[in-house]
Amino acid sequence: MRVEEGRRWGAGVLREAGIHAPQRDVDLLLEEVLRCPPALLLAHPERELSSAEKERFCALVFRRCAREPLAYLLGRKGFWGRDFSVGPGCLVPRADTECLLETVLGVFSGGFFVDWGTGSGCIAATLALERPASRGMAVDASPRALAWAWKNFRDFGVLERIELVHTGAPADIPLGPDSVDLVVSNPPYIPSSRQASLMPEVREFEPPVALDGGPDGLDPYRTLLPWASVVLKAGGYLAVEVGDVAQTDWLREHTTPPLVWKNLFLDLAGDVRGAVWQKAPPVAYNG
Ligand code: GLN
Repeated sequence: MRVEEGRRWGAGVLREAGIHAPQRDVDLLLEEVLRCPPALLLAHPERELSSAEKERFCALVFRRCAREPLAYLLGRKGFWGRDFSVGPGCLVPRADTECLLETVLGVFSGGFFVDWGTGSGCIAATLALERPASRGMAVDASPRALAWAWKNFRDFGVLERIELVHTGAPADIPLGPDSVDLVVSNPPYIPSSRQASLMPEVREFEPPVALDGGPDGLDPYRTLLPWASVVLKAGGYLAVEVGDVAQTDWLREHTTPPLVWKNLFLDLAGDVRGAVWQKAPPVAYNG
């Protein structure tokens, strides 16, 4: 099989399987197998694949036909300009989550942060890298996700600055009141009843624990908000990703002191994707 044949065959097979961008996916898989930059596929269409390369390439194409996420097949996904290692057991970083990060970087110049539901660790690692004067804690209910986060923290050289905590219950996190400058989270927020309608890539391969937020998708916020309002320092921020504007409205309506609603933020499609609060300073007692 030559490169041009592989590209044509793979794109045809993926198209028939209903894959959204067949040529892009097949080129990325071929680049991965041949370990070559994209331009070489076009510059050397006559290059012959070895039998090992052909076997690996075909296997990856068939796995993609079965809807395995491209990021799992490549073993990586770009986030904030860096490639994170990903695979079964962690949610693939989403471009929309970069909007959460952008918002958070706007209010966090350094200090101590907690990333609740860290998954691949993309938020925590990026925060640590973009804010060298910071330390943090990355929390997840899934040991498999924490293994990916650990690898990413190690590969990006931030392992010494981020503690990994395995729990699904904020109350277990070993932090006292008024100790955190920023709580950030992309929790599972898709209502349980909508799990069946997710894309097969998400529904059949990504961890349900990272997606299913209970009957209305809001369960994680019900525990996160009261906890954050205790552990945050006065003036500290809480920023979360949400599924839609209805969830944001609910969160705004259910804001209670000492958390003060600050603003919402949008995703790349212009839809409401998140919410930000600040913990108010203690009210002065004047006798
Ligand atoms: N945005 C993700 C999706 O729609 C969901 C991630 C999450 O629940 N936090 O696939």
